[in-house]
Amino acid sequence: APVIMWFRRDLRLHDNHALAAAASSGRPVVPLFILEDGNDGAMPYGAAQAWWLHRSLEGLAARLEAIGSRLILRRGSTADIIFAIAAETGAAAVFWNRRHDACGIEIDSALKADLRARDIDAQSFAGQLLHDPTRLKTKTGGSYKVFTPFWRALQQGGEPDTPIDAPQSVLSPARFPGSDRLDDWSLLPTRPDWASRFGEVWTPGEDGAQARLSDFVGDRIGDYGRARDFPAIDGTSQLSPHLAFGEISPAVLWHSTRLDDSSRGTEGVVTFRKELAWRDFSYHLLYHHRKLDRENIDRRFDVFEWREDEEYFAAWTKGLTGYPIVDAGMRQLWKHGYMHNRVRMIAASFLIKDLLIDWRRGEQWFRDTLLDADPASNAASWQWVAGCGADAAPFFRIFNPVLQGEKFDPDGAYVKTFVPELAEMPAKYVHRPFEAPAPILKQAGVALGTDYPQPLVDHRAARDRAMQAFARIKGVH
Ligand code: FAD
Repeated sequence: APVIMWFRRDLRLHDNHALAAAASSGRPVVPLFILEDGNDGAMPYGAAQAWWLHRSLEGLAARLEAIGSRLILRRGSTADIIFAIAAETGAAAVFWNRRHDACGIEIDSALKADLRARDIDAQSFAGQLLHDPTRLKTKTGGSYKVFTPFWRALQQGGEPDTPIDAPQSVLSPARFPGSDRLDDWSLLPTRPDWASRFGEVWTPGEDGAQARLSDFVGDRIGDYGRARDFPAIDGTSQLSPHLAFGEISPAVLWHSTRLDDSSRGTEGVVTFRKELAWRDFSYHLLYHHRKLDRENIDRRFDVFEWREDEEYFAAWTKGLTGYPIVDAGMRQLWKHGYMHNRVRMIAASFLIKDLLIDWRRGEQWFRDTLLDADPASNAASWQWVAGCGADAAPFFRIFNPVLQGEKFDPDGAYVKTFVPELAEMPAKYVHRPFEAPAPILKQAGVALGTDYPQPLVDHRAARDRAMQAFARIKGVH
């Protein structure tokens, strides 16, 4: 009897433990992807990710065809579809790779019990993280709240499993069940096609992921430790959307960055692996705080007086705050579905601390617009910036968007790429156009308030206001 290989956010053939087990079982395999929007109306993909998903599924289908198989697409309620496919094919087993978000865990554990109750074998595999989130424990058996000891434990926990090769072939069932047509899912935006520029930067799918990795490891990793903070430099791997869809596994990234090759630079490798560990740490937090995207880890923040200001929020989302580094980041996000990490921190800090808008609104906006939107990393990072998370930057550490811009984008190259209104501004004023003397503005062709906005808030006054709001919750227990 066939095995159903249920693909989720693991859209790859290489180092896919569930697929490898299905392929080597000697039984026919039915590769299945479900667009799980039938579970209490929960849509697991934001608008930007829907674009990626479409392209990634095309890639996966082609790869499966190349090894003599076929990808079956179905949409709706997870359990209904699994049982329907099992009935249609006579499948006696379902294999999948474990996911670690609360909703996914709930669906999968209920399904596992239901399958077994009907004598269908259900097997889940690891491989989406460097280490399973339950594996690393403190000396007293608890969970980690601080990154550094987590990182130490991760390094001492042994190497992640050695990656396994993609299967050369898989057996097909006598007859494949019917499949939806991908185009009928309408995942791609139509009018307006706001995703039109995504393709300039990204190649979704396993091939795209491997090309990015070779490019990064072959060329840029040595300088990663220094370059990763400068948004105008192509200094990071830009593998995050590929990781978010599981087109490449973290174990592959770990093992393809080696410490013994000095030409690549040890420091870059260690820093890169440490960032991968932040991803694992975020999942560790999500595993232990299932409402990470909704509930402050530091419960004192439950009474924080957030402001509800739709005009400010809209200006932030559109990149019209009047602070160039924030605006450049928000427009990069809109244009390319991505934002450089340094700028994510600055833009998030601005929303939370300068505008006093609830971090959860920012988290939701990112979830809908980031191609790498990830239930763990996004929520953990927003809580971290807000100061209400585990191991968070303290609330009172408030980024100054002008000084941050000047430090990490000294000649304004990043700002000028995404905020073309400021293309002619001299470096001295590119991060503070509101302080530029009239002749400079004129020469740069910028009429403040017309071509480019005046600052939404005065940073110094906003900072004081934030500190006062924080002081009101500091003593709360
Ligand atoms: P690289 O620098 O090349 O790092 C390699 C990989 O390590 C990344 O692909 C990512 O998987 C992981 N990583 C790096 N930094 C972090 C981090 N701080 N936390 C967790 N994992 C990390 N990352 C996401 O993948 N999805 C998100 O939804 C997300 N939301 C964020 C929201 C905010 C407010 C902030 C401040 C950060 C967020 N990050 C998120 C983390 C980080 O910004 C991105 O992972 C990184 O910018 C991706 O680019 P890269 O692949 O070139 O990273």
